[in-house]
Amino acid sequence: MILDIDFYKNVLEHLHEGVYFVNLDRKILYWNKAAEEITGYSQSEVLGKRCSDNINHVDDSGFQLCMTECPLSKTLSDLTSLEETNIYIRHKNGHRIPVLVRTMLVRDISGQAVGAVEIFSDNSPKLAITQRIKELEKMALLDPLTELANRRYIESNIQTKLDEMRRYGRPFGILFMDIDRFKNINDFYGHEIGDKVLIMVSNTLIKNVRASDIVGRWGGEEFIAVIPNINEEQLYFTANKLRVLVEQSGFSLDSGVVQVTVSIGATLAQPKDTAETLLERADKLLYYSKANGRNRVSIKQG
Ligand code: GH3
Ligand code: MG
Ligand code: MG
Repeated sequence: MILDIDFYKNVLEHLHEGVYFVNLDRKILYWNKAAEEITGYSQSEVLGKRCSDNINHVDDSGFQLCMTECPLSKTLSDLTSLEETNIYIRHKNGHRIPVLVRTMLVRDISGQAVGAVEIFSDNSPKLAITQRIKELEKMALLDPLTELANRRYIESNIQTKLDEMRRYGRPFGILFMDIDRFKNINDFYGHEIGDKVLIMVSNTLIKNVRASDIVGRWGGEEFIAVIPNINEEQLYFTANKLRVLVEQSGFSLDSGVVQVTVSIGATLAQPKDTAETLLERADKLLYYSKANGRNRVSIKQG
């Protein structure tokens, strides 16, 4: 049985995975519905363009992959398919989404390479997030602008985690994060764009932590993450990954790309801690990051 091309197109359009095809110049020639849904970019916005023009792949150290080591360019230059890799793409609204990517070389009938296909799936804990939003909404513990947990929820969550640590020895850490020079964004672009930046940063944070982690808005342009079952090294790694992914987020305006950075104070809870002493220590470390040039993580002073 030979199936016509519409059959294959139809199948591709109904996949949950994003699928796109590039030619040897790495221009995008096909972009399916799931790719539109995951990235926010419609077909008409990407066809004929390259990934560096829109979704812009980076790894978790912030390395720009599109120019040199993009899964697609690697596939095209090595003429092999690539194992599944975990990287980050940029949504049209600016935030970074973790995706699992596979690529395949495409050959014509004569065996000549003509391009490559990339298949990617959203790797953020999406269901957990939707569920959490619903629960927080019910309990009036939701920050309306960013849809993150609000300050009240974070305070009560830290209290619970402290109790659990004392009773069951479960470790946890917190990250205190503050957008750098945010006042300049409001002054330069206006409050509305400022709000859009807050939403972008919130999305990058919530989409790149584990489902069991809590990310909330502490106030203004300050955020807190509560991260259970973690040691100091992992806490630093997580903080730095989030710092890099915020730095690599950004949305376009006619006047250019709007981007911000965050400074972070990271600390593990100690048995003697109260919520106040824990938050105070994280805040001091955050201040230390600010004083040392911003866009950095401090986990210990000195
Ligand atoms: P630093 O690097 O030292 O943190 O500098 P900063 O400019 O970020 O710090 P500052 O505390 O001086 O400014 C915070 C700004 O955040 C001022 C305030 O107008 C703005 N802000 C607070 N809440 C909101 C909000 O909900 N929406 C918008 N657009 N701006 C907000
Ligand atoms: Mg602040
Ligand atoms: Mg600030």
